[in-house]
Amino acid sequence: MCGIIGVENNDNAAVLASAGLLTLQHRGEESAGITISGKEKMKTFKAMGLVSRIFNEEILLNKLPGTAAVGHVRYTTSAKSSLTNAQPFQINCIHGNIAVAHNGNITNFLKIKQMLLRKGAIFNHTSDTEILLHLIAMAKGNLANIVASSLRKLEGAFSLVILKDKTLIGARDEHGFRPLVLGKIESSYIISSESAAIEVIGGTYIRDIKPGEIVVIENGQIKKSFLYKKTKKQNTCIFEQVYFSRPDSITFGKTVKEARVKMGEYLANQMKNVKADIVMPVPDTGYFAALGFSRTSNILFENGFVRNHYVGRSFIKPSQNLRDLTARLKLRPIHEVVKGKEIILVDDSIVRGTTSKRLVNILREAGAKKIHFALSCPPIIGSCYYGIDTPSKDHLIAANNSIEEMRKYLGADSLTFLSLENLVKACSCADKKEKVFCTSCFTGKYPTIISRNTYKEDY
Ligand code: AMP
Repeated sequence: MCGIIGVENNDNAAVLASAGLLTLQHRGEESAGITISGKEKMKTFKAMGLVSRIFNEEILLNKLPGTAAVGHVRYTTSAKSSLTNAQPFQINCIHGNIAVAHNGNITNFLKIKQMLLRKGAIFNHTSDTEILLHLIAMAKGNLANIVASSLRKLEGAFSLVILKDKTLIGARDEHGFRPLVLGKIESSYIISSESAAIEVIGGTYIRDIKPGEIVVIENGQIKKSFLYKKTKKQNTCIFEQVYFSRPDSITFGKTVKEARVKMGEYLANQMKNVKADIVMPVPDTGYFAALGFSRTSNILFENGFVRNHYVGRSFIKPSQNLRDLTARLKLRPIHEVVKGKEIILVDDSIVRGTTSKRLVNILREAGAKKIHFALSCPPIIGSCYYGIDTPSKDHLIAANNSIEEMRKYLGADSLTFLSLENLVKACSCADKKEKVFCTSCFTGKYPTIISRNTYKEDY
């Protein structure tokens, strides 16, 4: 998963882009980068690690002069997480200097790459985004047409920000899998994965970039916005609301916090017969669903975990021992809260099951009497091909076990998943009646053709 941001017509473009990236840090902790243009020659600065470690005052103010910027934070967990794959990608081609930052997964990457290799193209990265650069470089016409004709060749999930000189372009795939929003701060437009990144820098959220839309912005003006591909059916990723997006963002027209509270309310209705002393969230994602649960069930809301925010993903590595240590460092139960209690433990999702099993263990050690595990989404039975780094089906616990088998494995007293119907209701906007979500990770039914050649980044 990744986060992207674009800023134009602003003397503080690099500073605003880095503040935006900090707000989007949860979408990718592996590497971060900013490309700047508009004053001097286009320049990219990127490195592995967290935004706050990469961008300091000296770099932002002295090394990145310009009025337009695109930025990217990247999340992977594999060996492929290298500086060469860090974005934005900047190229120099017949059309000049162009930079691209991408969130998503281009599913026909392998097919297009083969075609490009046969034409003599040279690849420097292993990332799917690189094919877009080749397509752009080979296309003819003005900037908007070049981008449009290139994007028409792509399948799968892509929310993009593209930079050339002072021109900023935002574009989304025809399904609208990943979010992308437009905002404004004074006379500058901002494009971001999430609205929170626009508001943090003092801007105002205007609207979502539509599925299949390209928006071309220059000098504080929208020069052009058009649908380069007609949307047959919108398929926005419902897992953004469940887990990925920040609760203070408006994703797909609804505040994520509001959707999560609703998920908790519906869960409470599903679990009317379960008695407990307290409802407890798994921080941070379980927080609002637990709040909704507590309000509906009238069971006391308690914070029984303290989360250590300084334990990064990078700490999780080699042996089982170290992994356990990481889990213990990350979340520590408050014994006084949980001891002797019947607990409804609310988390967002179970992927492999390892985190949930550890959580149950930790709570038992702290003296919890009963643990009723409640999840604010259905069992995940299908891998994601559209940009969420869920593992292959073999590693998805729910794809290979019944709910009772999972309950036993976790060691919980009961295990309840929010039904798909309730999840869709919780995430839907009142004014939208048609089904607009991609729910393939819960149904195994994909909105695009998935075959052996479908590209999925190998996490
Ligand atoms: P596990 O079941 O051990 O794989 O971990 C599930 C937990 O990881 C959930 O509670 C989420 O908070 C978090 N999670 C869910 N999806 C993802 C994802 N795609 N990448 C990283 N963490 C995730």
